[in-house]
Amino acid sequence: METIAYKCINCSGPLQYNAQKLKFYCEYCRSAFTEDELKAHFGSLDDQLNQAAQNEDVTPQDVPEGFEDFASNTVMYTCENCGAEIITDKTTAATFCVYCHSPVVLSNRLTGAFKPTKVIPFKIAEQDAQDKFFAFCKKKHFLPKDFISGAQLEKMRGVYYPYWMVDSTKNGHLYATTTKIRTWVVGDDEYTETKTYRVKRGGIIDFKGFPHPALRGEHSKALKYVNPYDDNEFRPFTMAYLSGFLAEKRDTERQDVQAEVDAELKQYAEKIYKNTIQGYDTIRVDNVDVKTLKENWQYAMMPVWMMNFNYNGKSYLYAMNGQTGKNYGELPINKGKLAVFGIILFLIIALLCGLGGYLLS
Ligand SMILES: [Zn+2]
Ligand SMILES: [Zn+2]
Repeated sequence: METIAYKCINCSGPLQYNAQKLKFYCEYCRSAFTEDELKAHFGSLDDQLNQAAQNEDVTPQDVPEGFEDFASNTVMYTCENCGAEIITDKTTAATFCVYCHSPVVLSNRLTGAFKPTKVIPFKIAEQDAQDKFFAFCKKKHFLPKDFISGAQLEKMRGVYYPYWMVDSTKNGHLYATTTKIRTWVVGDDEYTETKTYRVKRGGIIDFKGFPHPALRGEHSKALKYVNPYDDNEFRPFTMAYLSGFLAEKRDTERQDVQAEVDAELKQYAEKIYKNTIQGYDTIRVDNVDVKTLKENWQYAMMPVWMMNFNYNGKSYLYAMNGQTGKNYGELPINKGKLAVFGIILFLIIALLCGLGGYLLS
């Protein structure tokens, strides 16, 4: 497994992308460089990216009995800084050496067909991500009192996740049955008139940069909630941005998720067509057909701050958009506090009803 370590121009120390400075930073001599400065010094940053992946992944040898599954899902590499042998998951594309903490980019994971087209660099630094997490917890009134002291919080992890970004031009139609209802009274009789209409809507819709997770598993659930990203800040992909963060490579191909994306875009198209039907009392959608005129898929890396934590033996997941700060989290709920809230609410409603009755009497 080949690795890339980006070195400081001044002291050859390991360089990491710093989300606070928006530059590549050396912790040894505290120099900071822009992407252009690194390119001017080193030439292309991703020389290895232009070659097809030549080296096959090397899986650990001499697998003890019962560990075959572990072995087939892990890969070994050697840290360039300290020479230690490190084991990673099959989808890991960037990580840290567990011994010397140097950032390591596993170049073969992102070469050839697996080369991403673009990347949004982290814009929220680790400390800010942590502060935002505690602010998020503070806002949750039903959080158990001892949560901050009692929960085992892991370190916040900055991870680049693989996404498919889909541009799609659709042409479609929606057929609906709608009604307009009119009632009026003459003497003691009430009349109702219902007019029924057959409504057709249609047109061309351009979806730009529709994101779909390219990695399976529990995390893709959280990723849905931290969307969207501001796609004005996309940059052409270079592995240098991964340095100092974790990164995952995709484990799904376009054909694996095409049907899911089609279904999601069809739902959006239906909503857009339906929203143009106005001025009726009822709307029933009978049929929607949506055809794809043109489609372009790109593979992109998006920044997410992630944290797992344990509270009372249960594990929870917190995720934050590394560019916009939009967050998503599962938090434990203090059932006692919730019950008290329910009782107070009940009392307030009872009081309001009592008061209403009093005013009416
Ligand atoms: Zn340096
Ligand atoms: Zn090391």
